[in-house]
Amino acid sequence: DSQVSDGEAVDRSWPRQNSLSMREWDIPFDELKIGEPIGTGRFGTVYRGNWHGDVAIKVLNMDYLDDEKTLEAFKLEVATFRKTRHENLVLFMGACMKLPRLAIVTSMCKGMTLYTHIHLCKDKFTMNKTTIVAQQISQGMGYLHARGIVHKDLKSKNIFLENGKVIITDFGLFSVTKLCFGNRKGNGLNIPPGWLCYLAPEIIRSLRVRQKHDEEELPFTKASDVYAFGTVWYELLCGEWPFKAQPPEAIIWQVGVGMKQSLANLQASRDVKHAANFDEPPVINPSPLSFAFIYRNRKKLQGPRAEEIGRVKNGVDHW
Ligand code: ATP
Repeated sequence: DSQVSDGEAVDRSWPRQNSLSMREWDIPFDELKIGEPIGTGRFGTVYRGNWHGDVAIKVLNMDYLDDEKTLEAFKLEVATFRKTRHENLVLFMGACMKLPRLAIVTSMCKGMTLYTHIHLCKDKFTMNKTTIVAQQISQGMGYLHARGIVHKDLKSKNIFLENGKVIITDFGLFSVTKLCFGNRKGNGLNIPPGWLCYLAPEIIRSLRVRQKHDEEELPFTKASDVYAFGTVWYELLCGEWPFKAQPPEAIIWQVGVGMKQSLANLQASRDVKHAANFDEPPVINPSPLSFAFIYRNRKKLQGPRAEEIGRVKNGVDHW
């Protein structure tokens, strides 16, 4: 269907081409060599594997996912995923798209996650390294946002450091996660540990007992990604999460009413602190850098590009 004119291939079959290219990403499950499990998350298990080389294979947990609707949601996620090519984003290689075995195949990240560095190994990064890491996260996120993709689940567990290079994973998969999340029974809020502090106030306020994915979509936006980035920035600076060791109810209430984590114990230069309190009135709870500078921009820009937020003045301090 393509013809050559002036030495260039002209594609005259875009719609069909489009559905063909969807098939291009379809990997038959049998072609995968599945190795040992690396870990299990909220909605599936990630395995080491081999498919034309080392890969990571995320096999979705089919206890919750077994209908056509899920398959459609999954295919949409895959369609999103395959649009991404950036050096700070994990390389999407393909997916198994036939029920009952849905899986996503990506490149294998070799380093450790920021979560492991910060919270398990208690690594302390220099301000310079912190800035470089944050800048690379911003670049990856800026790219996603420019392509109209909202990550929805940015957190230190989804950010790898591979030889000093940031690799962001798990973007755009949250809707499938949410399908499982919504299907669970019980009267409480099903809140995975460590999730709340990444949720922007507008999302916190829309959490409901027995969240139904059909009815009450959580309002994830580029701006809520920026908020999550703010939490990662706080983790990088402070070595812990905001609202650490507080029960979920307390976090929900505080964030929901617009309170911010105190910055009092943050060991950082005057510039960093200054950025934190920039244009904020003196408050009893001084705002952390993440929630002030970034949140201020969230409001002003209604969904700023992470890249804009991450623009660094003098190489270091003005996030
Ligand atoms: P959650 O489900 O809450 O996001 P999680 O991030 O731990 O939690 P998964 O994303 O399912 O859950 O990941 C499970 C494990 O596999 C984690 O230890 C994660 O670091 C690892 N992992 C995920 N993707 C890759 C990858 N591309 N390369 C190497 N390890 C990976």
